[in-house]
Amino acid sequence: MMPTYGRFPVALVSGKGAVATDTEGRQYIDFTSGIGVNSLGYCDDGWVKAVSRQAAALQHISNLYYSDVQTELAARLCKLTGYSKVFLCNSGAEANECAIKLARKYSVEKYGRQRSSIVTLQNSFHGRTITTLAATGQEVFHNYFFPFTEGFSYARANDMDSVRSCVDDSTCAVFIELIQGEGGVLPMERAFVQQLSQFCKERDILLMIDEVQTGVSRTGSLYCYQQYGVQPDVFTSAKGLGGGVPIGACLCTETLGEVLSQGQHGTTFGGNPIACAAALEVLSRVAEEEFLQQVTQKGDYLKSKLEEIPGITSVRGMGMMLGAELQKDNAKEIAAKCVEHGLLILTAKNFLRLLPPLTITDEEMEKGLQILRDVIAE
Ligand SMILES: *Cc1c(COP(=O)(O)O)cnc(C)c1O
Repeated sequence: MMPTYGRFPVALVSGKGAVATDTEGRQYIDFTSGIGVNSLGYCDDGWVKAVSRQAAALQHISNLYYSDVQTELAARLCKLTGYSKVFLCNSGAEANECAIKLARKYSVEKYGRQRSSIVTLQNSFHGRTITTLAATGQEVFHNYFFPFTEGFSYARANDMDSVRSCVDDSTCAVFIELIQGEGGVLPMERAFVQQLSQFCKERDILLMIDEVQTGVSRTGSLYCYQQYGVQPDVFTSAKGLGGGVPIGACLCTETLGEVLSQGQHGTTFGGNPIACAAALEVLSRVAEEEFLQQVTQKGDYLKSKLEEIPGITSVRGMGMMLGAELQKDNAKEIAAKCVEHGLLILTAKNFLRLLPPLTITDEEMEKGLQILRDVIAE
């Protein structure tokens, strides 16, 4: 394999709930969900049944034919969110590519060829394709692979003046995360997001939200924008949507529903029946009010316990998407030591980042917290 990942020296073979087991039989509490993917934990019974049943019935058809599970998933996503149309794909970057194409076509058709640029935020992360790298507002991602897609500028997060100075007659959309995940678990301020929404509405600039990491109940609502009191024109979802199989989605309002028409976008694997069956199972569980309340409660509990750990100076985030700032600038080192002691945990910049499975039990949380306490105290 190309050496593109900085891997920990662990090979995992099985898992159940929030516990993974390696080739030596050693167990690990999982505070990562595979970077926010395994929403229901490892090998949840209902999820395994849904995926196995679909694999035994029909694994793949091309998008030239209809599939019941695919239409059912599209209908469920629209019904749960009140959005009008969805494009199904395989990943976060692809969902964002769809959003970018949609915004450009909408604006170019309505206002002319020059109206195609997009404002994103500094320190954002939107994916690894050439265009989503261009959308990503971090210089470190803009080396080597040029020429990048033109037409992106980067405003400061939580700063409307900066957004205003980036927007001009060529702007078709503003595209943001509500909590910058890879950027260090930085939540946007409510007032900023609401002002931004109003600002975009007045100018017919699309507000697009990248919910690839924040979505699918991760922050305590099915999608995070619901807690900000705004309705983006477009939002994208991926990571946790399939509970462990690759799937992405780009949703839009009724006005935008027919912008991408026949032949203008497509994918071989997108909307794959097994992925759709998995996502339907995930949505049937995580969108329930009682489940969402539990995510919020568990998140609040984790946050309060993290704040009590000596050596952690602050904790930010929402629900079960949390970032812990350390007294010493040694998040990577702590994460590596945690693995040695049986805890999987992520980092983002100089923060420890926690994205536990949404179904994690109190006991699993306690075990993980104890390992983290011990490692930081070492
Ligand atoms: C992970 C992530 C992406 C990229 O998703 P992939 O599935 O890796 O392509 C895009 N945006 C955000 C906010 C993410 O966290």
